[in-house]
Amino acid sequence: MTEARADRHVVIVGASLAGTRAAEGLRNLGHTGRITLIGSENELPYDRPPLSKDLLTSDWSDEAVESFRLATKASLDGADIELKLGVAANDLDTTERVVILADGTTVGYDVLIIATGASARPSPWRPGKGVYQLRTLEDSRAIATRLKLGGPVVVVGGGFIGTEIAAAAVGFGCEVTVVDPVAEPMARIVGPEIARSLVELHHRHGAQTRFGVGVADIQGQDGELTVILDDGSRIATSTAVVGIGSIPSTGWLASSGLTLDNGVVTDGFLRAVGADDVYAIGDVARWPHPGRGVQVRAEHWTNASDQARYVATAITQGADVPYDSTDYVWSHQYDWKVHTIGWRHPEGSSTIVGDLAGSGKTAVIHSDAKGDVCGAVTVNWVRGLNLARRLLATGESTKTIVEKLGRLA
Ligand SMILES: Cc1cc2nc3c(=O)[nH]c(=O)nc-3n(C[C@H](O)[C@H](O)[C@H](O)COP(=O)(O)OP(=O)(O)OC[C@H]3O[C@@H](n4cnc5c(N)ncnc54)[C@H](O)[C@@H]3O)c2cc1C
Repeated sequence: MTEARADRHVVIVGASLAGTRAAEGLRNLGHTGRITLIGSENELPYDRPPLSKDLLTSDWSDEAVESFRLATKASLDGADIELKLGVAANDLDTTERVVILADGTTVGYDVLIIATGASARPSPWRPGKGVYQLRTLEDSRAIATRLKLGGPVVVVGGGFIGTEIAAAAVGFGCEVTVVDPVAEPMARIVGPEIARSLVELHHRHGAQTRFGVGVADIQGQDGELTVILDDGSRIATSTAVVGIGSIPSTGWLASSGLTLDNGVVTDGFLRAVGADDVYAIGDVARWPHPGRGVQVRAEHWTNASDQARYVATAITQGADVPYDSTDYVWSHQYDWKVHTIGWRHPEGSSTIVGDLAGSGKTAVIHSDAKGDVCGAVTVNWVRGLNLARRLLATGESTKTIVEKLGRLA
């Protein structure tokens, strides 16, 4: 059981999904002490999934942006959450229990929640202007403005964010090529069956893919770029968007004494290893996943939100069971809505329910090496997703899940 006291000063560094949900969760659960929320972006907290979906595929407007805010100034004031925006934390002294900010001021804490998330892995190719990356509202605004100009677009990185940007670019009439050194880049998340269908979906909409070959360089200048591939081939393009993953925002913790290893390493209760009363949540946290039996760093909305709720509860009421994850992720591309729950075991097997070639409801059920079900992916089938999620939670066999989904289809 972790210690609980609702009157301590909780400082949260990182004012995005995990940080904001933790602050609100603390108040909702009866926390009476001070709550300070510190964020480096000079923006009220906003949601990131729409940055590569709704906001990128439609016309940008201030109203659209406001509808994706996670909180308003009034709601945070109403919950008595002290907000410090536009100032980064630069350092952490866990002995004195102070966070040192970039403006030279310090903020003392009783309990610290680290929620600094991740940033886009920087592009190794920098021909000056014309290469875009996507992590923030400003990035999304810049890409949207650029896509509206039309012209060829090369997306480097065939993961969810890269392919969502590709779908948005196709929607603006751009000639799109997605490049990735991995032969089936989306297979890691959704398995090879749906990964292949997603590639076909992109081809049907006119996007091209160059998978299994990496980028050697990007040369030229804004509007007149050349993407040079490892096999020597060259793609002329106006715009390049590089989406090659993210890196956890832990630079400010370098001298903190916390254990940092591809994120802030925590125990099963999300307590940072290396200091008392410090938690890490969301994209920055690397925690022991009970199901997988390894430390993982998830970069998914639901995990960040769930971890925020878990830690708010742990701080106000205590926690007697370690954090467990629902492992839920989604992606929207063209008219496909892909949802995944659980995970895919590299030595496991998969069973398809439905017709992947059609555009209708489909599910793929993943089993681990022992044959026990460990995850599912659905396409355009929310009822199938909900059923699979329920059956996974109650530990049904692969055979039962496949039969029940088959009856629902
Ligand atoms: C374009 C895009 C699309 C996505 N789509 C999906 C999706 O469809 N489904 C899904 O499940 N997930 C999606 N995600 C992932 C999801 O948005 C993240 O998992 C989620 O935002 C994590 O929240 P977080 O609060 O942990 O981190 P972040 O959202 O990264 O926020 C961290 C915040 O901390 C701030 N910060 C960093 N360092 C400091 C510092 N030193 N001091 C103060 N503040 C600091 C950052 O500026 C940032 O505001 C998407 C992400 C992106 C970028």
